[in-house]
Amino acid sequence: MLARRDRNREESGQRQSVAVTEIEPALRGLLDEIQASLYAQARSFLESHTIAAAERNEFLDLCSTRAGMIDIAWCERAECEAEVKRRTMATTRVLRELQEGDVRCTACGEPAKARAYFAQSY
Ligand SMILES: [Zn+2]
Repeated sequence: MLARRDRNREESGQRQSVAVTEIEPALRGLLDEIQASLYAQARSFLESHTIAAAERNEFLDLCSTRAGMIDIAWCERAECEAEVKRRTMATTRVLRELQEGDVRCTACGEPAKARAYFAQSY
C-alpha cells in the first residue's frame, strides 16, 4: 500500500495498492507526480502571497500589514533598506532584474537598480 503525504486522506489517489513486482515503476511515477504537485502548490502559494507596490506609502503599509513578499523597484542602497526595516521590520529577500518602466526606487525615490521582494522575518 502506497500513501501520499501531499494529499489528504479523503482525496482520490491518496492511497493505492501496488503489487510488489510493480513497486519500482509505480514509485518512480508517484515520486514524479508528488514533485510536480508540491512544486505547483509552492508556486501557487508564492504567487498568491506576492504583491507589487508602485507607491511609497502603499509599499510601507503592505510591508507592515501583509504576510508575504512585497515586490518593488529598488535602489539597492543599504541606507534605504535600513530605513524600510526601521519603519516596517521588512528586509530584502530576492533581487531580480529591473522591469520595463522601473525608474525610481519605490521606497526612497533614488534611481532603481533592481526589482526586490521585501518581507518581514518571523
Ligand atoms: Zn531606495
